[in-house]
Amino acid sequence: MAEDERSEEQTELTEPTQEAGATRLVSVAVPVALDQAFSYAVPPELELPPPGARVVVPFGARVLIGVVRPVAAERPEGQLRELLELLDPPDAPALSEDLVSLCEWIADYYVAPVGETYRLALPASAMGVDARRARLSDVGAAALEAASNPLLTGARGQRSAEVELATHDRRVLERLAEAGAGPGTKGLAVASLSKARGRPAIPAILVRLSKLAARGLVEVDAGEAESRRARTEVHYRRTDRLRSGSGDEPALAEAVGRSKQRRALLDYLELQAPEIWTSISELRGPFPRVRQLIKPLLGAGLVIESERLRELDPFAAPALEAGEPPRLTDDQEAALTSLLGALEAGRFRGSLLHGITGSGKTEVYLRLIAEVRRRGCGAIVLVPEIALTPQLAERFRARFGDEVAVLHSGLTPQQRLDAQAHIRAGRRPIVIGARSAVFAPVPKLRVIVVDEEHDASFKQDDGVRYNARDVALVRARSLDAIVVLGSATPSLESWHGTREGRLELLSLTVRPTPRPLPEVEIVNLREHLPNRETLLSATLRTRLLDTVAAGEQAIVFLNRRGYTTALSCQTCGSFQQCPDCSAPSMTYHLGRNRLMCHLCGHIEGAPERCSSCGGSELEHGAAGTERVEVALAADLPGVRVARLDRDTSRGRALVEVLDRFRRREADVLIGTQMLSKGHDFPGVTLVGVLRADQGLALPDFRATERVFQLLTQVAGRAGRGDRPGRVVLQTWAPDNVAIQHAQRHDFEGFAELELAARANVGHPPLDNPPLGHAALIRISGEDRAQVSARARELGALVHELVARVRAGGATKVGAHGPDDSPIGRINRRLRMQILVRAGERGPMRWVLRHLRQALGPRGRGRTGTVARVDVDPYSLM
Ligand code: ADP
Ligand code: ZN
Repeated sequence: MAEDERSEEQTELTEPTQEAGATRLVSVAVPVALDQAFSYAVPPELELPPPGARVVVPFGARVLIGVVRPVAAERPEGQLRELLELLDPPDAPALSEDLVSLCEWIADYYVAPVGETYRLALPASAMGVDARRARLSDVGAAALEAASNPLLTGARGQRSAEVELATHDRRVLERLAEAGAGPGTKGLAVASLSKARGRPAIPAILVRLSKLAARGLVEVDAGEAESRRARTEVHYRRTDRLRSGSGDEPALAEAVGRSKQRRALLDYLELQAPEIWTSISELRGPFPRVRQLIKPLLGAGLVIESERLRELDPFAAPALEAGEPPRLTDDQEAALTSLLGALEAGRFRGSLLHGITGSGKTEVYLRLIAEVRRRGCGAIVLVPEIALTPQLAERFRARFGDEVAVLHSGLTPQQRLDAQAHIRAGRRPIVIGARSAVFAPVPKLRVIVVDEEHDASFKQDDGVRYNARDVALVRARSLDAIVVLGSATPSLESWHGTREGRLELLSLTVRPTPRPLPEVEIVNLREHLPNRETLLSATLRTRLLDTVAAGEQAIVFLNRRGYTTALSCQTCGSFQQCPDCSAPSMTYHLGRNRLMCHLCGHIEGAPERCSSCGGSELEHGAAGTERVEVALAADLPGVRVARLDRDTSRGRALVEVLDRFRRREADVLIGTQMLSKGHDFPGVTLVGVLRADQGLALPDFRATERVFQLLTQVAGRAGRGDRPGRVVLQTWAPDNVAIQHAQRHDFEGFAELELAARANVGHPPLDNPPLGHAALIRISGEDRAQVSARARELGALVHELVARVRAGGATKVGAHGPDDSPIGRINRRLRMQILVRAGERGPMRWVLRHLRQALGPRGRGRTGTVARVDVDPYSLM
């Protein structure tokens, strides 16, 4: 695992700067996707900025905000440029020392451009928008007055002669005056000085302001952002244009364009009911560039906008009643004692808290963090997706009140910046958030909890491909803090870590209340054919009806959204494919009467005829949640059915579906894997899985592990209230290990078999992770010949490097490929990959380091292809 590389890396970090003669140089991480360092000279009038401080630098024709790195700067071959400005006081850099070395570690370990890694640790706005406020000084006001009134002479005229105002300086002063930011006022936010068109970008305005401040013309407060809650904001909603089938598909397609982000944005709005307005702050989470993205959609009439009252933060709901903490079970007590011992010892320790679903892991986190607080220190709790588990954040708020900062994707950039300021100042010492919260600047950080540590969402799968679980371990190690990884279905990485002694194993084996784990029944679909419409076997149907009749609730799980998978032609047999991706990625959505590609977001009208032969008989493929919802409602009269998947539930809508079900306004909730994530629905006594074997056949060594985790987690939703639960797994593969062990709730048995299955596989025979290590080199581009050529070129290099390592005695290294990726094409880009596997990390890292140089600063070859490395890949698809 990642953290054992730590000490090696640390020794490479050297003094922040080197005094080369009289010139002081610093190395700066600039927020661009170039795998390259940039050096700047510190001009004599500026203090030497420490590592982690933000600085304004010229970059090409632009001015950017970068962060000073803790490495020696090399004198560039070309012209040496100077820093323009320091944004942080030398004694309070934006990034603390531990975060700086964490960013450096990530850049090195994950073979990622250093500028991108620093961007992970600072909110986007800290490298763009600035929270400072500026106002005119008395001198500035006088100078402006004199300058704008050339007839004024005499005493004032003399003064203005001292203060020559260049046109652009004068414009800034005028703007401040217009906005009422005169002497003695609160001032104007620097951000709003640059917002409108024709005004300079933020970094440039900062430089200009600081020069004006140096001349005493303006005053700039470095002050903290106050939360400015305007009462209204822009909202958007979709129109019915897409649905109406008005025939101008080409025009619509052109408006939407190829941008995956824009397609996803349209999709997001398309999924809402027509009368629902979505606020720009909700959209900014998933789509930071929403304003730009949405323009063509507004232009084409697909979306309309309106200024409306600001909605409340969905997570700002009042906290639960605090109540008395429960008496701990013996298991909980033992786990807590062990963790408190580690905390007391003040040295790094990683622990795996393996507790069956509902065994009270959260209570252990709460007690541990209460102790951290008693010592005046801080903690971070990482969760897979806050929106899916608002209850967890609520439980923390109930216990710790305002000490908790919840970082979720619905925050506006300003709210994010505010939260960051509160955290840095120690006002909110407990931070709860998804993946990126691992970088939260918590002072005196003593504990990092990673809840549901097996979850795929901790691995970022584009940009810097880091795993927050591993980054948490590395960060904690550097701070002598402790890490708790919690799960009912630990990743095999963490499980293996406990066997190797790198992680301490703590187990919770019983539920605290007398609710046994649910009984799991396997229904063999070969013998009990499911209904074609509802996908229910007779057994599951009966159990559903009984459950509802008893006044209890049920969950029905199917990991496929949409109405049906791709339409196929009954005449020629061809599938209606996404024009830009590998099949089968197109799903039919009834609510929208459209086909949608789940890989790239391509949306098109449902065809009436086959695109290949013109045949008019198009048959629907396998059913998804949307279809089952409709069929269930028809088949089970009187039963209220609700649906939870990415189509029905985003942002506030998601919270509403969950609340409605919890309030028992629906009897049956049908949904996808979103249902597996730690929800606590006390009324649920039955969980039915429509196709338990789904996903087993994927060409990925983690396929079986993923299915086991999913089934165990879904099953864990049953019987958490007063009554015992029951689970029905329908499957075509009743004998599969994942299904068999999920039936017995037997994680350990599964882990042993699955680990054994990962030893010595493939060509050459090597251990798959977690027994061995892997890295995937992904090559993509639009042109088939170019992609293959680049893949072959890199493949040859990788094989040569591997051969050199092997010749040096490290025989447990191998490379495979290049091959087409299992998903060979996404959004017109062809995908190929090379897999490197190794028994030990050292040799693999040696190969990657040498490969890095060949990847070039952008991972781009001469030929419009991109190659990037994915270290410890989660998915091989
Ligand atoms: P997990 O996180 O392991 O799934 P939770 O922490 O959500 O489990 O606990 C499940 C339920 O049990 C919650 O409703 C919680 O309040 C309750 N609980 C936890 N610990 C105890 C305890 N020691 N005594 C009684 N109830 C408890
Ligand atoms: Zn597609």
